[in-house]
Amino acid sequence: MAILQENNFREREDRLKKFWQDNQIYAFDEASDRPIYSVDTPPPYVSADHLHAGHFLSYSQAEFIVRYKRMKGYNVFYPMGFDDNGLPTERFVEKKYHIDKSKITRHEFVKLCLEETKIGSQTYKRLWTDLGISVDWSKTYSTIDPLCQRISQWSFIELYKQGKAYRKKEPMLWCSFCQTALAQADLEEREGSPLNVHERCGTVVEFIPTTQWFIDVLHIKDELIALGRELHWYPTHMRNMYEDWVNGLKWDWCVSRQRYYGVPFPIWFCKGCGEIIPADMSKLPVDPTEDSPSIEACPACGSREFIPDSDVMDTWATSSCSPFIIPQLVENKNVSGKIFPNSLRPQGFEIIRTWIFYTMVKAYYHFGTIPFADVMIAGHGQDERGRKISKRLGNYIEPEKLLAEYGADAIRYWATGATLGANHRFDLEDIKKGKHTVNKLWNAAKFCLTYIEARQNFAASPGSGIAYNLEPEDKWILHELNNAIRSCSDAFERYEYAEVRTVLSTFFWGTFCDYYLELIKHRATQESAKYTMFICLLTTLKLYAPILPFITEELYQLMYKGHEGVESIHKTRWPECNNGWIMGEQAYEQMKYFIEEVDAIRKEKKEKGLRYKDVLDIYTLKTEMGMASLREKLQIIFSIQEISPTDGWTETFMPNNS
Ligand SMILES: [Zn+2]
Ligand SMILES: [Zn+2]
Repeated sequence: MAILQENNFREREDRLKKFWQDNQIYAFDEASDRPIYSVDTPPPYVSADHLHAGHFLSYSQAEFIVRYKRMKGYNVFYPMGFDDNGLPTERFVEKKYHIDKSKITRHEFVKLCLEETKIGSQTYKRLWTDLGISVDWSKTYSTIDPLCQRISQWSFIELYKQGKAYRKKEPMLWCSFCQTALAQADLEEREGSPLNVHERCGTVVEFIPTTQWFIDVLHIKDELIALGRELHWYPTHMRNMYEDWVNGLKWDWCVSRQRYYGVPFPIWFCKGCGEIIPADMSKLPVDPTEDSPSIEACPACGSREFIPDSDVMDTWATSSCSPFIIPQLVENKNVSGKIFPNSLRPQGFEIIRTWIFYTMVKAYYHFGTIPFADVMIAGHGQDERGRKISKRLGNYIEPEKLLAEYGADAIRYWATGATLGANHRFDLEDIKKGKHTVNKLWNAAKFCLTYIEARQNFAASPGSGIAYNLEPEDKWILHELNNAIRSCSDAFERYEYAEVRTVLSTFFWGTFCDYYLELIKHRATQESAKYTMFICLLTTLKLYAPILPFITEELYQLMYKGHEGVESIHKTRWPECNNGWIMGEQAYEQMKYFIEEVDAIRKEKKEKGLRYKDVLDIYTLKTEMGMASLREKLQIIFSIQEISPTDGWTETFMPNNS
């Protein structure tokens, strides 16, 4: 008999992270012909210094869905990107090193940015792995890497050739602190304030006439609205934020920045006549400040001298390409062709006006299609007083500390508490409840293992368990289990992970532990009880697996791996409903009465100061529970000498027809 030794979450989580990594449990399978579920993961800014528990929310919420889809049999493509080009990284490096940009060369500055980028992405990877995020780490990109530069430059030249990217001198939003032009979406959203403030630095912006690159968005508002209506928004009302933004656009997208660290424009200007010379597509990526154009002489005036475009692109010009960057991470072109449009874009609501909007622009111009089928919007984390968690306010516990003290499963449990799309308060009590749930699973498994052999094989039995002569309470718990499977599946299909947690709390803590396990204690050695425990616990572990990946894997490895023959619970199939478990109406009603009697007996014993096992001389039924076999059960379970029918209900007991 396998005995569970010690419930140590730190040791467990470290060991299982390694097990998943060593066995490539989350690797995308290029050879598989199962349907693909692809995720356009938000590439975080690598200035990871600002990470806090709020980030745990949005990433784990999307990940619950990914794990569910994996168990539903999809070939999950779950890459990770890092958004390390552009102003956010520059600002981070400037602050960290107290840099005066007039006293540092472009080369030195970019070098520092690249170093920070590397450090940041390692911090992220460590934290996400600790949190149990099931990303395929062999599929990563960074928005400054050659692949992303090539695609951003390809996109720009395409738009230029279509006449959608144009250069113009006009008064444009200008940040005097960052010394660059800005786009409308770079302004901070301040309700009622007439001031336009740059969201990265808080400086009030001016309008200064400069020559910039723009991408036409004002002429395609209707098309963008129509495209937005093809997306499935979760929750649905988030579509309004997108439409409000599109309808409120005042300027075309100013896409050039007078900065250092970003993707260069693949453009030269003729020194003689100013003609715009785009790079040869086959040469991308290029840096015009270092490379020469492919042509020898200007086609317009014959001049042989060219001036490089020294601006860099808005960081969104790259991240807006993410849905067609990620397929490039797959070598087999037949397979990568199936990854666009992506299945899911998870992201925060505050970047609907940027990331979703710009992505829609690119997808419309390049492919005339939506870039992904579903959009899942997360709210942000709030502190216990309801303020947004932020590095600036310092109102958070270090994510490393939280993980060390409570474990990933407990933190993920807290993250499931948030209603889809809504902000979610940090709640230590909820994290503790997550830890209790982990312990409760452990203890329930320990109890079951006292009776059922680890790796015991019930596979030969018909799914409904008829062969085991099930007792009424066995049939009842399987009926309730069937309902839980249906509710959890239905909720996950709607991206409502919070509902899953509620259903499981009720089923596992209440129905299974508080009732079923108590009711069968006296006959737990019978095959019927063993079979039922075995099935209920296995199914519960699978239903919890997307939310609590560590404890469920641990118990699966100890108890069920042999039976299932699958190396990890996260590669097993999601439980299916079983019509054989549905009870007849009358039988179910009798069990409802039975449970009411159980409650009443517990209350009565407590009131009389009797312990569970103490004998109760006489008990009067409170319901119309008529089955004699159920009455006898109550007598045995609760040591009752005599049970009499409820007052005023004198009908004789029904014969024992269970
Ligand atoms: Zn600024
Ligand atoms: Zn020329």
